Amino acid sequence: MSYSKANLRYTDEVIAKRKSDAEMIQRDRQIQVIRKIPEIGRYLKELSGLASGLLRSMESDDFESMMREITDTNQKAQRKIRSLLVENGYPEDYLDTPYTCPECGDSGFVNGYACSCRKELLSELNVRDLEAVSPARNCRFDNFSLGYYSDISDAQYGVSPREKMEDILEYCKAYAADFDMNSNSVYMCGATGLGKTHLSLAIANVAARKGYSVVYYSAQNLLSDIEREKFSGARPHTESKALGCDLLIIDDLGSEFSTQFTVSQIYNILNDRINRSKPVIISTNLSPEELEKKYTQRITSRIIGNYTPLFFMGSDIRQIKSAE
Ligand SMILES: [Zn+2]
Repeated sequence: MSYSKANLRYTDEVIAKRKSDAEMIQRDRQIQVIRKIPEIGRYLKELSGLASGLLRSMESDDFESMMREITDTNQKAQRKIRSLLVENGYPEDYLDTPYTCPECGDSGFVNGYACSCRKELLSELNVRDLEAVSPARNCRFDNFSLGYYSDISDAQYGVSPREKMEDILEYCKAYAADFDMNSNSVYMCGATGLGKTHLSLAIANVAARKGYSVVYYSAQNLLSDIEREKFSGARPHTESKALGCDLLIIDDLGSEFSTQFTVSQIYNILNDRINRSKPVIISTNLSPEELEKKYTQRITSRIIGNYTPLFFMGSDIRQIKSAE
């Protein structure tokens, strides 16, 4: 999985803040409790004395018996503190540091591996990033309605649009559920308003929630951003995002104004991701033949040869919805 530097930095800051807040609460509670129950203060002092005893014991020949004694005294003092807290109406763990994640003590790592709390935060940021640039929040599997697709069999294909779309919906759900870095790329093809953007974003939603970084661009924005960065000498931020993310979604390929520059950019991105086996979802109104005319045979054959095609069927849902 890949995360942006900004998201990693932000996650580390959030976790560090959780830790310092928890430690501040613990210190405040300790001061308040010692004032009210001085006996607890004495046990706490004993506990901190044990820590230096532990260091000394490491140099001693009688290390094991000293260790046993220290552990024993420690446990007794801890027990005593807990029972004094309860006697005075506090919960017994009142002086434990109230970490948000007790598993890692708000360090973000357990035995050198990222803790689940850290992964969770990064996933939330992935979803936030995705929602910031797309209507992903409204494009989910549970609000994708097959009711808009006709159940009358199409004479040419011998199948109704609804049946066809049922299959595509099932395919997309399974693709999202199983999504990982070995997933194939998908080519969604069909006329405007058949739900291509909706389904590609529904997949994006699931993948981002699983912790994968998903980047969504309309082909138009992707290419104009790359072009602007290239010719203004700015850092190629867009291109690195498109190449580096776990799942790239290019919406409405073919709708953009194409030039030699845009054609070569699209080729570079698609080719690079194919070579590194990184999944892409392309949606387009263009048939493979039209795609070939607009781009080159080189790009089209890369897509046809490496992507799973999904051919959408039906009538423009946006028009049906607005007529309702
Ligand atoms: Zn944690």
